[in-house]
This record gives sequence, structure tokens and C-alpha cells, in this order.
Amino acid sequence: MKDLIGLSKDELAGELSLLGEKPFRAKQLWQWIYFKGETSFDNMTNLSKELRGKLQQHYYIGRPKIVTEQLSSDSTRKWLLEFADGERIETVYIPEEDRGAVCISTQVGCAVGCKFCHTGSQKITRNLTAGEIVSQFMTARDTYGEWPSPTNETRYLSNIVVMGMGEPLHNREQVFKALKIISDGDGIAISKRRITLSTSGIAPHIEAVASELGVKLAISLHAPTNEKRSLIMPINHRYPIEAVLTACQKYQAIMGMSRMITFEYLMLKDFNDTPEDAKQLISLMKQYNLGAKFNLIPFNPWPGCNFAPSSNNKVHAFSKLLESAGYEAPIRVARGQDILAACGQLKSKLS
Ligand code: SAH
Ligand code: SF4
Repeated sequence: MKDLIGLSKDELAGELSLLGEKPFRAKQLWQWIYFKGETSFDNMTNLSKELRGKLQQHYYIGRPKIVTEQLSSDSTRKWLLEFADGERIETVYIPEEDRGAVCISTQVGCAVGCKFCHTGSQKITRNLTAGEIVSQFMTARDTYGEWPSPTNETRYLSNIVVMGMGEPLHNREQVFKALKIISDGDGIAISKRRITLSTSGIAPHIEAVASELGVKLAISLHAPTNEKRSLIMPINHRYPIEAVLTACQKYQAIMGMSRMITFEYLMLKDFNDTPEDAKQLISLMKQYNLGAKFNLIPFNPWPGCNFAPSSNNKVHAFSKLLESAGYEAPIRVARGQDILAACGQLKSKLS
């Protein structure tokens, strides 16, 4: 038995041609799966009984097992999901007033090992498949009953942030395949402008985020100099700031300067939060002439981590300095902290 979730449109057509079916059947099936969210072949009324029978024999439309589902006091929701081999990841929904973002994971654990990140303390177990990535979003839609795919204006699950567990550009092939399925207009139809891929800066793969995918880009920068960045993000030895920002220029050359790149900057007490750090950051940005904005992230603590969040005063002063240099620099409001669902807190195994 084979799971149909995660097959590209062409692959789905290939499977149907193996069953002796015409290509338009693949389109119908695609719509049932990704537009209507149907999981039972029996309900696919415009397919012949014979075809439904054949499909049932060879395929299924999978969802991960929901191990736990937690609701935060601020309405953030977190699912602990389990795949066929027993591996687990977390997916989070962060509602805003009239819309919301689903934060999806791309790996079990993460090899990058950033010192401030709970996922990074877990090491890498394996990459997720495209099907496992797409099905996280589908599970969220199941929970909110948001099928068939609503029009843009009426969606609660309106955005996707690839900011869960794992480094998406360490799993480029499957992540790209998944995001192509998710953004396909005949199915789930989340527009590429509403999808943001966040990376710790795997420089050689950044340009492809524009050339192959066309989704929004966020870079986890977190420090203004290589010296500091290397202390908290070991990946910086391999891909230093210059390599990352040069890759960002290539991204923007394809997407256009108006497609801002978001630089995430974690505010760590007594580490990277002084006016001097802000000034260094500004001159770095000017040097590369990027269409950039910042997102200042308060550090979210987790058991066993030694970092502490910067004081509110320091974060506000930092934000003001960036703004006076012409950069947007909002301070992110941490969501779902009471259920360890905030950025950097996800971890599927207890240690
Ligand atoms: N691996 C990718 C995407 C997942 S992490 C990346 O690093 O960009 C998503 C975001 O959460 C990143 O900006 C990351 O730096 C941030 N983050 C990690 N640990 C955090 C913590 N303890 N508090 C706040 N943000 C954190
Ligand atoms: Fe991996 Fe991102 Fe966490 Fe770094 S911040 S360890 S890249 S998930």
C-alpha cells in the first residue's frame, strides 16, 4: 500500500496511468485529496466504482497520528504528530485576529545545533518526506474543518511559516516538493506570497528558494559579526555572514528588491543586544544593499538552556536604532509559551 500524499501532480498521473486511467482522472483525484481534503476513496463520487476499488487496493490517503494536541491560553495550538516509523515532530498553529500561520517542521531534530534552540539540542534523526511535510498542514486544516480550500479572504489557516523543527535547506528536495504541492492552485492553494521559508543560512541553496520556488525568505542572523555568530551558530564556520548575504543578493536579484528578506534577530541578554551591536548590524546591511527588514525575537527559554532574554528596554532601544536607519524592526510577540510552542521550543523527545 502506498500513500498518495506527497506525490507530485505528475507522479500521481503516473500512478493512475499504471491503473490504465486517463490523465484527467489524476486531476479529479488531486482535487479530492488537496482541495476537498477527502481521505476516503468511497466518497469520491465522480470516480467510477471500479476505479475507487482499484485505488483502495493499492493506495491510501494518509495523515500522521495525532499523539497529543495542546491549546495555549492565547489560542496557539500545538500537535505532536507521529509518522509510520514512530518518529515524531511538532506542528503549531498561531492564530491572529482574522487569519493565522501554520508553522511546519521539516526534519526530526536538526543537525545545525544552534546553542539557543531546543530542536538543535536534539540532533538529527532524519529528514521528513514531502508527504510528511504536506500532511502537517492538512492535519491542521482537519482540526479547523477548513475544507474544501476556502477563498483567500475567508481563511483562518492563511499562511505557512517553515519555522518548525529542522533546517529546511538541509532537506531541500523534499521541502521544495512539499511547498509546490501546498501552493498548487487546484488544491491547498496557499499562495507563495503567504509562505515563508526560514533558514539558518545554508548559502548554496538560498538562490533556489527564489529560482525554483518563489516563496518568501527569512534568515536567522542573530548576530552582527562572524565572531559572535559562530559562538551561537556553529554553521557560521561553514557559511559565514558574507556567504549568506551574497546568496541573499542573488535571491533578491530574482525576486525583485521589493520582496523584502526578513532577518530574524534573537535578542540574547548580554550577548548581542547593545547599541553597538545594532550599529554593526546596520552597517552590515548597508554594505550589502538588501531590501531587508528585521524581526526581533525575544528569546524563548527551555529547560536546560543557559541564555536569558534581553530586557524590554534593550529590545526597544535596539528596535528604535534599526528603525531610525530605515529598517522595519518589529518585536515579535511570543505565542504559545505555556505549551512550549514558541519559536525554538519545539522538541519531540523529552530528555
Ligand atoms: N532552522 C530554521 C527554521 C526553524 S527555527 C532556522 O533556523 O531559521 C525558526 C526560528 O526560531 C529561527 O529564527 C530560530 O533562530 C528561532 N529560534 C530558535 N530557538 C529559539 C529560542 N529559544 N527562542 C526564540 N527563537 C528561537
Ligand atoms: Fe536547527 Fe533552526 Fe534550531 Fe538552528 S534554530 S538548531 S537551524 S531548527
